[in-house]
Amino acid sequence: MRGGSFRIARIAGIDIQIHGSWLLIVALVSWMLADGVFPDRYDGWSGVAYWTVGVAAAVLLFVTVLVHELAHALLAKRRGLPVPRITLFIFGGVSELGGQPETARAEFAIAAVGPAASLAVAAISGTVALTLGSGNEKVEAVFAYLATVNVLLAVFNLLPGFPLDGGRVLRSIVWGRTRSFRRATVVATRVGEIFAYGLMILGVYFILIGFLWNGIWLAFIGWFLLNAARGESSQLQLDTILRPLRARSLMHTDFISVVPGMPLQEVVDNFMVARGERAVMVANGDAVLGILTVSDVQRVPRDEWMSTPAQRIMTPREKVETVSAETPALDVLHLLGDRRLNQVPVLEDGRMVGLITRRELLDKVQVAGSLAPDEPSSRHDADTQSGN
Ligand SMILES: [Zn+2]
Repeated sequence: MRGGSFRIARIAGIDIQIHGSWLLIVALVSWMLADGVFPDRYDGWSGVAYWTVGVAAAVLLFVTVLVHELAHALLAKRRGLPVPRITLFIFGGVSELGGQPETARAEFAIAAVGPAASLAVAAISGTVALTLGSGNEKVEAVFAYLATVNVLLAVFNLLPGFPLDGGRVLRSIVWGRTRSFRRATVVATRVGEIFAYGLMILGVYFILIGFLWNGIWLAFIGWFLLNAARGESSQLQLDTILRPLRARSLMHTDFISVVPGMPLQEVVDNFMVARGERAVMVANGDAVLGILTVSDVQRVPRDEWMSTPAQRIMTPREKVETVSAETPALDVLHLLGDRRLNQVPVLEDGRMVGLITRRELLDKVQVAGSLAPDEPSSRHDADTQSGN
């Protein structure tokens, strides 16, 4: 379980996760189908039948969303981009790509293959509905629904609201034309923001003319897309700021080092509380044995802090993620993000020379960001991004 998500499978090295909000949307869709769509269209089923078919269709809908995401993810992997995970959540799915495509052409292909997969699923579902479904109303109901929704999915995702697939397609086209990824991202995120505002306004309009739930849903999606587009532009800013930097310039060298036998109480009183350190090194002279963090300490009951030595609960050195002083700052950021770390020690020739904390890194980015010129830099490629 991480960030409200749990893993249900691993496909081609990609973790498939479900976010808690996904269960809500599956329940909603099941209810909508069992209580509205199917009873309107098909007469004379039992209540149990409406619900069974409704739930089956809702679950299969999300299987087809997964197919859409897998199409993005597998093509991205073939183009050399790591894809740590796909998450299904309330608005559908996201494939997390561990980097940006190298070329405009690659980005175009990776973005376009998702809607193409949805159209293929729609065609297959339509065929099943027409053939197998002709003798069985329930099969027809499920597959006709899947066909319709997958066409809608493909169309919706092709709208130019970055970070929807259509927005990525737009970016790849602008990128190809202007040869500037940065400018292309700026254009695509602007269009995405306008599009998101448009959806929100349309949502409010729907609410005013009486389509309450459709209106709320549209406004909600608009709000989500607006945040996503803004996230993407701050990602670009982050990338621009961090690209020239290495771990050496982000670390602090005055990290605290304690002896292995020091009781937690002493570490907490003298360093964590008094100096605000979230992590200290546990070392014997020059030899680092491990790292002790605030979260390690939190796992020990308070009344045992006096009797527990640092060494007993620290994360031992061989399990600690480290970077070298020459590691690019963007890689450090990825590592902190991917492993959900609050800090990472910096090594040079096997010796620990500094510590980078997430907070310091983000502070530096913020200061640099508020002082940065607006002029675009030429090259970029960078962070974990999400694509719908
Ligand atoms: Zn997509």
